[in-house]
Amino acid sequence: MNPNPIRRKVCQAAGAALALIPVAVIGQSAQAATNAKLREELHYQDTPKGDMKCLTCLEYAPGKKEGFGTCKVIPGDDEIAAEGYCASWNSM
Ligand code: SF4
Repeated sequence: MNPNPIRRKVCQAAGAALALIPVAVIGQSAQAATNAKLREELHYQDTPKGDMKCLTCLEYAPGKKEGFGTCKVIPGDDEIAAEGYCASWNSM
């Protein structure tokens, strides 16, 4: 069909590259986000402090991933552990 071997190779390479695009996009969207700067400022930790933990904090919202969610105080972070804690823990 395509008598030009160079052109055939270019077409094959382009086809392979196009086939990888959905894999790259899915990989990026599945990647979790964290807000390292605010975590550090608020002394966030993945473990509770006594009875205080993210799960009982008013700022916490459970996410799709079991045991993790988001926090209104730490935007752009969907890896807040339900058993975590930070200096802004709020029960009121
Ligand atoms: S404010 Fe702190 S304790 Fe409360 S949910 Fe956010 S990270 Fe957890």
